[in-house]
Amino acid sequence: MTWTCPNCGRGFRNKNQWHSCEIRELDHHLQRRSPAVREMVGRLLEAAHGFGAVEMVPVKTSIQCRLMDRD
Ligand SMILES: [Zn+2]
Repeated sequence: MTWTCPNCGRGFRNKNQWHSCEIRELDHHLQRRSPAVREMVGRLLEAAHGFGAVEMVPVKTSIQCRLMDRD
């Protein structure tokens, strides 16, 4: 990674890359969801980890998964 946001501390490939600095807890997204949705999210995150080292970043409007070992 080439640039670290001084506000949220996340690393990015490009300097000043657009992103949301509003990092939330995963529970923020799941607390009012049904058990079926929680289970689905858990399975998706588990599948994402099957691609390699994955960073999960729950931000204001989404849960992002990013491969960490890409060049
Ligand atoms: Zn930021």
